[in-house]
Amino acid sequence: MNDTIASIATSLGVGAISIIRVSGIDAISIVNKLFKGHNLESVESHTIHYGHIVNNGEIIDEVLVTVMKRPKTYTMEDVVEINCHGGIASTNKVLELLLLNGCRLAERGEFTKRAFLNGRIDLVEAEAVSDLINSETDIERRVALQGLSGNLSKLIKKLRSDLLNIISNIEVNIDYPEYQDIYEVTKEDLKNKLPNIKNQLERIVKDYETSRLLYKGINVAIVGRPNVGKSSLLNKLLDENKAIVTSIPGTTRDIVEGTIFIDGIKLNIIDTAGIRETKDIVESIGVEKSLEVIEKANLILLLLNNNEELTNEDKELIDKTCGKTTIFVVNKNDLQSKLDIDNLNLENVISINTIDDVGIQLLKKKIKELFNIDKLNNNDSIYVTNIRQITKIKECLKIITEIENSMNLDVELDMLEMDLKAVWNNLGLIIGDAYDEELLDDLFKNFCVGK
Ligand code: GDP
Repeated sequence: MNDTIASIATSLGVGAISIIRVSGIDAISIVNKLFKGHNLESVESHTIHYGHIVNNGEIIDEVLVTVMKRPKTYTMEDVVEINCHGGIASTNKVLELLLLNGCRLAERGEFTKRAFLNGRIDLVEAEAVSDLINSETDIERRVALQGLSGNLSKLIKKLRSDLLNIISNIEVNIDYPEYQDIYEVTKEDLKNKLPNIKNQLERIVKDYETSRLLYKGINVAIVGRPNVGKSSLLNKLLDENKAIVTSIPGTTRDIVEGTIFIDGIKLNIIDTAGIRETKDIVESIGVEKSLEVIEKANLILLLLNNNEELTNEDKELIDKTCGKTTIFVVNKNDLQSKLDIDNLNLENVISINTIDDVGIQLLKKKIKELFNIDKLNNNDSIYVTNIRQITKIKECLKIITEIENSMNLDVELDMLEMDLKAVWNNLGLIIGDAYDEELLDDLFKNFCVGK
């Protein structure tokens, strides 16, 4: 890190401006050699200067140069950014001159790597930068930003400090076995703190699974017996007539797919034929598909008709959705109520109709609630999407379960110390408290040049 690196930070092509970034001990003096304007070595930090890049008296480009002195910079080193006219020839020429005057071409992600090695960001934040750059959808962007917020790092640090406390108490016990009371206190402490550590890590894994779902889109199956209003609901949600709505039972024979977005989250909606005993061949294909769809769905909207009594088919469907995330949608609440489901003790029941918009809003609210979608907008929440981090967290959970089993068998505390240290270490690897070169190379090679 003793050399000065440079690279084009914007994508190379024809554009209004290109930014060339320079970082390192000689960043200011090297750019100053090429810059005609203010003497950059005597300007204030974090200031912008107009001038020209000049080579042997020839003007190469008209530029704006930003000078940022260490340590309050992205890399914590002196950083200079040259805004030149966008265009391949002038951008490349400026970069070429920088390289001829003492800079080295930066590797992929090297600016961020320096930010990490100089202690400005930890590994979680570095990975979040990469995720942010690579995010293609709004949801990916929001989740990546969560990583940059530092919440995960803060939590990991807190859990490590709790563990270290316990580990050092165990070591005191090993050194001074005569203090039986410290032994008991430490044991109690471990018993109290371990479930909390486990809970927090389990929550992260659970949220990870949800966030993956949010990335891919939630598969929503609309099921219910014929004529309860599935197509009407689908149409209302899609706001277009994709399925044929008719009052003759059993006309929606195909699985109609469509997509809606709730707060940027994709919902793949699948309409299904009503499930019922039938000899009609086309209809029964639809029925089979319905059951298949229930299997594949992440969320089931099971429609019941408010205007009719509960039938055996309804009950059969309710049974089929057992164990799946389901919203029981009592439709046609504009008509007289004949349905009685109170004794079934169902969770997530909402009452709607497909005529006005009130019920649809209620339904959307319920979906947001079930998938914690609002949490994504909450700055305090922790979302891990990075496979490396989640693998480490799962490893920690495995070891914690082993520790719990040993504790149940009344194993001596000093026998648990190694496992506790392993958890502590694994957590450290997540934030980059310990790392190896291979890991860093692997991580930063996924970055673009100039970041
Ligand atoms: P599907 O067979 O479950 O797809 O049911 P449809 O969506 O085809 O609806 C069956 C009939 O119920 C149609 O005549 C709809 O207009 C009617 N319907 C759907 N939703 C409502 C509602 O909320 N209130 C009333 N009164 N009728 C509805």
